[in-house]
Amino acid sequence: MQVTVVGCAGSFPGPDSPASCYLLEAEGFRLVIDLGNGALGALQRHAELFGVDAICLSHLHTDHCVDLGSYWVARQYNPDGPRPPIPVYGPQGTAERVAGFGGESVAAVRARFTFRDLAPGAFEIGPFRVTADHVNHPVETFGFRVEHAGWRLAYSADTGESDALVRLAEGADLLLCEASFLDGPGYRPNLHLTARQAAEHATRAGVGRLVLTHLVPWNDRDRTLAEASQAYRGPLSLATSGLVLGPAGPR
Ligand SMILES: [Zn+2]
Repeated sequence: MQVTVVGCAGSFPGPDSPASCYLLEAEGFRLVIDLGNGALGALQRHAELFGVDAICLSHLHTDHCVDLGSYWVARQYNPDGPRPPIPVYGPQGTAERVAGFGGESVAAVRARFTFRDLAPGAFEIGPFRVTADHVNHPVETFGFRVEHAGWRLAYSADTGESDALVRLAEGADLLLCEASFLDGPGYRPNLHLTARQAAEHATRAGVGRLVLTHLVPWNDRDRTLAEASQAYRGPLSLATSGLVLGPAGPR
């Protein structure tokens, strides 16, 4: 499996990264997890526009899904004709949410995407074994564990402190974990994690490597790393747009 961080900015896009988007590739299959603001543009640096085989949305906040509306436009108005539907996994109501972005009908959106409601449990997407579970965020939100050929990735999505996240990440080779807050004022529970809390979850889960993501542009990156390093002793770094991860490590 190869994991490319397409977008790692949290809550809104930053000057150096779109909002949340991750490209997972194995056996020629391309799975996109989340498609936040600006991600469709950056995604084309790493995959052909119509080279995506499936999309999985953690939740329906715009910084995780709004570019699916843009992708609908591309698939609908492709000059060689509309592209056939591809599967989109997401919370209940994903089709209606995406239709609302462009004022399209739900039927028009369903003609380009086959929507499948997520529920807690394990299932296959192409060559990937995916386990989904609810995490701790104000709207229905799924964290994921994705396995291929013995390599295990966990993705927090957006979450406050969450035992489900620890279970999803148990023994994972890599945890992509959100770190939206820093210690101090401004922290709000049951919404997002601080960098320190992200590190505590990684330690509890015993992950092999922690990469912090969903980095809010107004946070100081050095401070994010420093606060996390107090609670996790393994390999630790911050995501950047274009970072490639996988069994061989960062490239
Ligand atoms: Zn969110």
